[in-house]
Amino acid sequence: MSDDFDAVLIGGGIMSATLGTLLHEVQPDWRIVVVERLDAGGLESSHAHHNAGTGHAGLCEFNYTPRQPDGTVDPSSAIRVGQQFAASLLFWATLVDRGVLGPPHTFVRPVPHHGFGHGADGVAYLRARWTALRDHPLFADQEFSDDPAVLSAWLPLMFTGRAGTEPVAATRSAHGSDVDFGALTRQLLSAFGQRGGALRTGHEVTALHRHGAAWHVRLRDRHTGQRHQLRAPYVFVGAGGGTLPLLQSARIPQIHRYGAFPISGQFLRTDHPDLVAAHRGKVYGHATPGAPPISVPHLDLRVIDGQESLLFGPFAAFSPRFLVHGRRTDLPRSVRPGNLPVLLAAARDNHTLMAYLIRQLTQTADARTAALRRFVPTARPADWALTTAGQRVQILKKAGRRGTMVGFGTEIVTAAGGTLAALLGASPGASTAASTMLDVLAASFPHRMPDWAPRLRELLPPPDHDPDQLAESLAHARRTLGLTPAGRGEVHR
Ligand SMILES: Cc1cc2nc3c(=O)[nH]c(=O)nc-3n(C[C@H](O)[C@H](O)[C@H](O)COP(=O)(O)OP(=O)(O)OC[C@H]3O[C@@H](n4cnc5c(N)ncnc54)[C@H](O)[C@@H]3O)c2cc1C
Repeated sequence: MSDDFDAVLIGGGIMSATLGTLLHEVQPDWRIVVVERLDAGGLESSHAHHNAGTGHAGLCEFNYTPRQPDGTVDPSSAIRVGQQFAASLLFWATLVDRGVLGPPHTFVRPVPHHGFGHGADGVAYLRARWTALRDHPLFADQEFSDDPAVLSAWLPLMFTGRAGTEPVAATRSAHGSDVDFGALTRQLLSAFGQRGGALRTGHEVTALHRHGAAWHVRLRDRHTGQRHQLRAPYVFVGAGGGTLPLLQSARIPQIHRYGAFPISGQFLRTDHPDLVAAHRGKVYGHATPGAPPISVPHLDLRVIDGQESLLFGPFAAFSPRFLVHGRRTDLPRSVRPGNLPVLLAAARDNHTLMAYLIRQLTQTADARTAALRRFVPTARPADWALTTAGQRVQILKKAGRRGTMVGFGTEIVTAAGGTLAALLGASPGASTAASTMLDVLAASFPHRMPDWAPRLRELLPPPDHDPDQLAESLAHARRTLGLTPAGRGEVHR
């Protein structure tokens, strides 16, 4: 195979798999290669066990509905995330219709999404959230209740026999989903390969350089140690936690001062059939003051390869690796004279975040059980085991004179006239892959977008789609994907 391509996509996660699929649709004559350092795609953050599998649609996550000083809630981020997830659903449904993706239950299932408010203030916050969203077509099915009988019918594990006098309330949206982003990634990559795309697994990109009009992408075969070089006029760096070091190797000026700090996630997991049978949803609580959005506790029903389990977390942990299968030297090797001041400023200026991380890292098993018991008052430690999820590499940069952590959002970086694009940050993550990759196409190929637009519109709704029209298209996509709302207590298998 020649080493000249029209596009090199680095990393075989959900982002590159989605971009490869879109590029193939709009430009089927292009030679496109996905390069992945592991022996298959979808084994890092996109792997089902490395993330919470929530189809983030704004239905239950408090961090997308910040509270205003007057106690009302700003719904705009939740609506934006809802639209982005709707784009993903429409995209996947089209691919299922065309036989590109396999049976939908192999990667997405209907699992109701709930918001959980506790304490008088938390209940008021949840009510304000529900009030702000309920008139929007994407949130029309959302119900609110603080009635113990209703709560216990919705979520028996959390509310049946709950003692104490703390006010509690929940919302329920039957339109929630649980997604196996790893399975989805592998299906997309397999279809990409069958339709002429190239996939080089077991090859690590070690450096990127621009020579004239081409990017030279250096690879190392991780099994033989052999080195190769690919050339292409366009490169997408979708290497997850491995993205920043590659941008550093390419000497991208914007990221000269960016630093990175890895935080790994841990979950408590149970497969106990009685517990799983008594909890048929994904329930998101609110963060404690000063804690970052990734800390928002949630209790999730997961369905992975047909096996049901419950996950509670996340708890933050530390590893210097930028990838689950990365190296201990990842963090020290990313420190350069250009970003050292940012790392130091971030440590100095983010006291509450640092304090939160230190509390998390020194947390005992008893403290984790206490956090779980806010959700499951009867939880017994023997039923739950601690599991390690994916690495989140938080991006640090300077805002004014302060060092700021910006990794909680997703940032598209483009360089060299749009011939290189990269994705930094992790939230809201995999759920928004389709619309985020549409943004990458628009940022990378503005001059081609008018030609590509009609084809793209067949796959994805445009960002300015009318909300009622979107809700209608979405209803159709949901039927295709088997996402008809589950009855109470029931999850489609
Ligand atoms: C704890 C946790 C919970 C999460 N929960 C959710 C959730 O509930 N819902 C949601 O939507 N999102 C969630 N996310 C975010 C989501 O998992 C990520 O946003 C998404 O998987 C990122 O996809 P990606 O393709 O960018 O990265 P990845 O899936 O990490 O893929 C990057 C790939 O690049 C490869 N790679 C790295 N370096 C190189 C190199 N030098 N050469 C070649 N290949 C390389 C890696 O091996 C990897 O396969 C969560 C993340 C974490 C960590």
